[in-house]
Amino acid sequence: MPNMEKLNEIIKKLQKIMRIQDYDIELKSIDQYRMKHEGNDSDFSTVMLTETDVRKNNAIIFINKDHPVLEKEWYLCLVHELYHIVSARYRYISDRFANTDLTELLETEKENLVEHLAKIFISIYPESKIMED
Ligand SMILES: [Zn+2]
Repeated sequence: MPNMEKLNEIIKKLQKIMRIQDYDIELKSIDQYRMKHEGNDSDFSTVMLTETDVRKNNAIIFINKDHPVLEKEWYLCLVHELYHIVSARYRYISDRFANTDLTELLETEKENLVEHLAKIFISIYPESKIMED
């Protein structure tokens, strides 16, 4: 995985392509213990996690810095997190159904959709293409 400075450059490029330039995105590299306590759905094995504020147009992407998956799949993971920002309004609305029968269904559907889009994205814009220009 590139260093944080390079990752920030890559995020800027990806933001343009994904039309989310209006978001301020902060990266935070944290250890697995902090990752477990950072979000409601996170645990030691969470690779990345994004918190988005749709009213302030900002987001924080937490990276579980020691996670072994990062070496090979950091790019897919990052694109996946950026799609969470793209779809932040969906989450903002679906959160209103938190703690109902719909919670798990909406959550699973959202994760599947975000992962599906991320995989399509990286086939169109592979890591090598993003790194070169
Ligand atoms: Zn996700």
